[in-house]
Amino acid sequence: MDLCWHRRDLRTADNRMLAASDELLPVFVFDDTVLEHAAPPRVAFMLDALDSLREAYRERGGGLLIERGDPSTIIPDLAAEFDVERVLWNHDYSGLATERDEAVRAALDEQETNHEGFHDAVFHEPGAIRTNNGDPYSVFTYFWKKWRDREKSAPYEEPDSIVDEHGENLPSLSDLGFDEPDASLPAAGSEAAEERLSRFCDGPIYRYEADRDYPAKECTSRLSVDLKYGTIGIRRVWEIVENAKADAESEDERDSVTEFQSQLAWREFYTQVLYFNPNVVTDHYNAYENEIEFRDDPAGLDAWKAGKTGYPIVDAGMRQLRSEGYVHNRLRMIVASFLTKDLLLDWREGYDWYKKKLVDHDTANDNGGWQWAASTGTDAQPYFRIFNPMTQGERYDPDAEYIKRHVPDLREVDAETIHSWHELDEYPDTEYPTPIVDHAERREEAIAMFEQARGEE
Ligand SMILES: Cc1cc2nc3c(=O)[nH]c(=O)nc-3n(C[C@H](O)[C@H](O)[C@H](O)COP(=O)(O)OP(=O)(O)OC[C@H]3O[C@@H](n4cnc5c(N)ncnc54)[C@H](O)[C@@H]3O)c2cc1C
Repeated sequence: MDLCWHRRDLRTADNRMLAASDELLPVFVFDDTVLEHAAPPRVAFMLDALDSLREAYRERGGGLLIERGDPSTIIPDLAAEFDVERVLWNHDYSGLATERDEAVRAALDEQETNHEGFHDAVFHEPGAIRTNNGDPYSVFTYFWKKWRDREKSAPYEEPDSIVDEHGENLPSLSDLGFDEPDASLPAAGSEAAEERLSRFCDGPIYRYEADRDYPAKECTSRLSVDLKYGTIGIRRVWEIVENAKADAESEDERDSVTEFQSQLAWREFYTQVLYFNPNVVTDHYNAYENEIEFRDDPAGLDAWKAGKTGYPIVDAGMRQLRSEGYVHNRLRMIVASFLTKDLLLDWREGYDWYKKKLVDHDTANDNGGWQWAASTGTDAQPYFRIFNPMTQGERYDPDAEYIKRHVPDLREVDAETIHSWHELDEYPDTEYPTPIVDHAERREEAIAMFEQARGEE
């Protein structure tokens, strides 16, 4: 019998660790160190996903043991108690996870329990795709070309011999020390993930390339939370996406599917960036010659968090974050650019807020996204190419449909007025604020801030 330790792979289907075992004892541990870095939306989603995982095991005649504490004592203790042959897990690539796994490995070695880790969350594990010089990639386009051309494995078989050990009930959010999240969260579990995947592949995937930047069109997959918690396997996603590609009725539709596949490669690109540079969680990926002199502006930061900057598209994105624990990708870029280039605040302030509020917060993708927007990351937005929030709103939400959905104060205002909010002589009678900064001025100041950091003053 093997002890199978679930972490960010909360499913029974297409799970490499489970497929490697003939008889398994599934375990999940609420790790106190990980919980210190967690926040209500993520813990709430994870509890629902665990509930669904436990049900999936029950249906197959088994159980899921749930424990809480330090995995480096709990896992070896359980291994000894159940006299297992091996302890198995799927790799997690963040710095925190790597440290935790190192401690568990050492404790198991000490008591001479065999253990094995598997690459499951990604197709091509960090380091599998390298430049011709043997270095990890820092430019996405080259990484993507190799990633795309590598063979992709098929989904793994579901396990069928599961030990029936149920253990304690699932703790509640408050047992774990968290409040209820403010946001209404997506349904959790493998069934919900399958539904999201099939809804997407039944239609939106064919418009993805054309429509993915238009938030009101809602044509993206919403799979980020499932890929984060592993409520669906990456091979299963690929299988269904490849089926959709085979059913495509035109070259445009096929290209659209490929565009979606390249987003899955971005996820693996950032996973390897984090793996080889665990310090990016707190440091800039790209060192500038001088410190970037970000400002200290608590009032500006609060207005950004509350969605009250007076820039309608920015505020809509920030309010979507509050109400859904999710933000459309175009909006993540717009609000991150606004924080760093218009408010001139440190990207780490924004990253911390996302970490608290996003249900799909993923260290690699979130950090990669923030450092991209802040021009401090690998393959990042150049510091002088600064999003104009009004133009972004006009281009990607021309009828202000997305804005009105999230900013009720602007529902009675016409789109043209909304997109001219920064230059109106007279404001409509609404609670919605006037702009807290002047974009044109801040743009100049942001460029000067980066030039100073680059030593080009
Ligand atoms: C500042 C900022 C912060 C971000 N934080 C996160 C985060 O915490 N977690 C997260 O999963 N993504 C993050 N992203 C990337 C992206 O915005 C989300 O993955 C996407 O919006 C999720 O919606 P979706 O599943 O409908 O995406 P789709 O467009 O359907 O994409 C499919 C999948 O591809 C991956 N993906 C898509 N875009 C990216 C990208 N730019 N980088 C890496 N992977 C990508 C995700 O796993 C996503 O679920 C961030 C981007 C930015 C600019």
